[in-house]
Amino acid sequence: MPSAALGIGDASVVIAQEILMPTSARWLFPDEAEPFAILERARPWLEPHFVNERGHLLQSIHTYVVRTRDLLVVIDTGVGNDKDRSGGNLEGWHMRSGPFLEELRAAGADPEWVDVVVNTHMHGDHVGWNARLVDGRWVPTFPRARYLFVRPEWEHWQREAERTEAVRRLVDDSLQPVVDAGRAEVVPADLRISDELWLEPSHGHSPGHVNVRLSSRGVDAVFVGDALHSPIQCAVPDVRPTFDRPESATQARATRGAILEQCAGSGMLMLGAHFTPPAAGRVRREGEAFRFEAAL
Ligand SMILES: [Zn+2]
Repeated sequence: MPSAALGIGDASVVIAQEILMPTSARWLFPDEAEPFAILERARPWLEPHFVNERGHLLQSIHTYVVRTRDLLVVIDTGVGNDKDRSGGNLEGWHMRSGPFLEELRAAGADPEWVDVVVNTHMHGDHVGWNARLVDGRWVPTFPRARYLFVRPEWEHWQREAERTEAVRRLVDDSLQPVVDAGRAEVVPADLRISDELWLEPSHGHSPGHVNVRLSSRGVDAVFVGDALHSPIQCAVPDVRPTFDRPESATQARATRGAILEQCAGSGMLMLGAHFTPPAAGRVRREGEAFRFEAAL
């Protein structure tokens, strides 16, 4: 079932969830000697939404359905069905046949009605439903939408596809079909989408990663994609999460720190691509770092 709608000025946000999974603090923070000490410190404000009673961090893969005054927008498109993700350690993503499209419709986003698709970046859990398999061909899931491909991100994955078979498959089943159908627009990382909605660069987790900013009637929100994977990172913004490549960890750390400073200083709502519902919350200063307060 989709989340309840969250009002942000004249806009509303609903979550259509594809996957919910528990993860461990040890897995999230591979460089840390005592990851569970971080968890115990943050536990009072992580409970009950972001950690379960067994001490597992909860992670979600979902799409944000954003309705503004004039646009119906989806942010990130999950893993997708029928995708060959064999090899590596992504068994849970391989050849899925989940009911995500029903979830999306229940969240108010009939694919036919969607105006804009944003991928905060082009990892496999953010682009999967860009395209779906129909009669043996990959076709855009959102037939009328403008798909915004952020230039440095798209160029990076096109280059990677030349070298890596798994990336080639992802480009072929989730990105190139959108280009071939004439629905992709290659855009700068600071694109203004409408007077209420724009992109801002948050590179680091991936080379062209972007945030999506929403501002309506004086209420501000930022969709941070994978700049943070779990609210627990508010407590330890400098610690590298398992998903940030070591070679870009410095940039990812700086980006994360800047986002947290901005949210704590302004009261802006923060929404992560993998935060479990209600997902939205406010960042508060706590000692040298921060904590996350879910907005209900
Ligand atoms: Zn992700």
